[in-house]
Amino acid sequence: MAQFQHVKIPKGDLIQVAKGQVTAGNRPIIGVLRGDGIGLDITPVMQAVTAAAVKKAFGGQREIVWCSLYAGLEGLQKYGEVLPPETIEAIQYLKVAIKGPFTTPIGEETHVCLHCAHQQNHGKKCDQCGKTDGVTKRFRSINVGLRQAMDLYACVRPIRYFEGVPSPNKYADQVNFIIFRENTEDVYAGHDFERGSEVAEAIIRLVKEKTGRTIRPDSGIGVKPISVTGTKRLVRKAIAWGIAQGLPSVTLVHKGNIMKFTEGSFCKWGYEVAKEEFGDKTVSEKVFWEELGGKMPPGKILIKDRIADSIFQQIQTRPEEYSVLALPNLNGDYLSDAAIALVGGLGLGPGANIGDTAALFEATHGTAPKYAGQDKVNPGSIILSAGMMLEHMGWKEASSCIVKGMERAIKDGYVTYDLARLMRAEGRKEVKELSCSGFGQAIIERM
Ligand code: NAD
Repeated sequence: MAQFQHVKIPKGDLIQVAKGQVTAGNRPIIGVLRGDGIGLDITPVMQAVTAAAVKKAFGGQREIVWCSLYAGLEGLQKYGEVLPPETIEAIQYLKVAIKGPFTTPIGEETHVCLHCAHQQNHGKKCDQCGKTDGVTKRFRSINVGLRQAMDLYACVRPIRYFEGVPSPNKYADQVNFIIFRENTEDVYAGHDFERGSEVAEAIIRLVKEKTGRTIRPDSGIGVKPISVTGTKRLVRKAIAWGIAQGLPSVTLVHKGNIMKFTEGSFCKWGYEVAKEEFGDKTVSEKVFWEELGGKMPPGKILIKDRIADSIFQQIQTRPEEYSVLALPNLNGDYLSDAAIALVGGLGLGPGANIGDTAALFEATHGTAPKYAGQDKVNPGSIILSAGMMLEHMGWKEASSCIVKGMERAIKDGYVTYDLARLMRAEGRKEVKELSCSGFGQAIIERM
């Protein structure tokens, strides 16, 4: 048994992961990080809904054993730091955890308050909320820190429509796909050099010397690495998911027409993984048209590719043609947000960051500090993320209970203020505006 300072590992089964296979036992221990701001409201609701789903599906034979882990405000209060190394060790030990949102300082100020996200230039009591135990020095994003520390290289975002949610898109009801975004490289790798810096100037000189091409001397320079390793492990996960779920296709999305050796290579290496590692289960689009006459053999999955700009059109005009999308980091970031807007956006998009062993499920929205502690906001994102988590553990029956409960609550018009407002604006009459916990209860009653 691992030794921790503040983390208390409860009695239960430690989740095992071998060769991508997750073994959960009947009483798996799962890490839970409450999050800042509205994390206070949504995380306990998620735990109640998840427990009810597991009970409904397995009638008391299985049960989640929650293990509290601390970051953000709770990390600061317990350890004196927002991302304590012990929290990372504990997630790696437990293999599966779920988290609320965390405050990230965005302004220029030296300090931030983790109660209300106010930023200021001193570390005394917060000028906005008056609290003294949440003010700390600026820090780097906890979310990014967690991903990097555990090499959670796949950012996974399922996008689907829930009947009754007002959407700007005519074909919203046909949207049902899952995005696998590479999480560690591309222009997000952090190789970003200021105009006039030594590295920026050296790169400009090197490019001139080696290629004869000129970069304007007053340029800032960003480096965009996309590797075989980073690409193949991401695409491998996307294809394995598509096969396991019996889905019709995996689409490699890239901008290879302009960036041949980064984006173009992502596409090329993606096809290689499909052929080399899943050859008996995949068919490329080229083979599909040229050799199979447009007929898909049963039990196989189609691997296709699309240029990034066209996919932004396609998900709006023919969303039914896509089921799994695999993308490099930057385009994956943009597409995830655009796609969630297609189905009404807001609090309902779930998400996870998954590596070879550890997986961290999360609410995809922020801490919305003005609503914190009011039992008001929509807990849908973290609840659906818990559904993904149950699926990751092989507890599909419990995951389905969550999704069914949510579908029915929304269809019945039993929703939180955000959806209620949109539904009423569309002229819907029979809308019942519920609190955060009330929405959780409505889901439980409809499982
Ligand atoms: P935000 O998502 O917290 O809030 C924007 C607005 O969206 C809110 O004012 C609220 O009206 C609405 N909203 C958000 N979540 C909602 C929910 N569950 N139900 C109903 N309405 C909801 O974004 P922000 O204001 O830009 O950021 C606040 C803080 O959260 C910042 O510190 C930011 O860095 C952080 N943040 C964290 C994450 C994360 O942890 N994954 C993601 C985004 C932002």
